[in-house]
Amino acid sequence: MSAIVANMQAVQRRIADAAASVLRDPAEITLLAVSKNFPAEAVAEAARAGQTAFGENYVQEAVEKMANVRMLAPELLLEWHFIGPVQSNKTRTIAENFDWVHAVDRVKIAQRLSDQRPSAKGKLNICLQINISGEASKSGVMPNEAVALAQEIARMPHLCLRGLMAIPEAQSDPVRQRAPFQRMRELFEAIRTKGMHLDTLSMGMSGDLEAAIAEGATLVRIGTAIFGKRNYEK
Ligand SMILES: *Cc1c(COP(=O)(O)O)cnc(C)c1O
Repeated sequence: MSAIVANMQAVQRRIADAAASVLRDPAEITLLAVSKNFPAEAVAEAARAGQTAFGENYVQEAVEKMANVRMLAPELLLEWHFIGPVQSNKTRTIAENFDWVHAVDRVKIAQRLSDQRPSAKGKLNICLQINISGEASKSGVMPNEAVALAQEIARMPHLCLRGLMAIPEAQSDPVRQRAPFQRMRELFEAIRTKGMHLDTLSMGMSGDLEAAIAEGATLVRIGTAIFGKRNYEK
């Protein structure tokens, strides 16, 4: 068995164990394989072993990879998630090529994605990125501004607002990892209580997926634990 396939099985086991420990059904939790910095061959290998959802951070790298995966394995039907920061000069390429965008934190970016989404592709799925650790340098909307942004985006015709996403400050202690994820869960519930139909809580990465699942994550974004250590970060 290849390392990627063995790693995917190990991650699936971590998800199942984390879900079981809080009496959740693991089927509620989507594994997003984050393939940034890894080639089309790695994506095809994971996909042939049953993985369907892939996350990418860099537009140009992603679009080239999608074309290469289509050449390598035209039979595979994959779902592509853009999880990096969205620059306004990249919105058209993102709207044309991706199924999901996880890091929307401004009306202007959302409006461009909606305007530029080809209608033949159906609505573009959106998560709002929340600045849950309150770090000045990090992107994401502040929690107290999330409801207003969600309401504006929910009105945009070519977007489907699915939920919230966060990248909390890195933290190795599992108990401390839970605090920002708990605040995310509370915000998610508060927005749902206002009648908005959110179904996705995108949180948890290789180092903290257990804490995220304990606090209700419905989608975990896993790179290193599947593909290995990245050689470079742009
Ligand atoms: C790179 C990245 C991940 C994956 O992180 P790992 O620690 O390698 O699992 C998840 N989410 C976002 C937004 C990323 O940029």
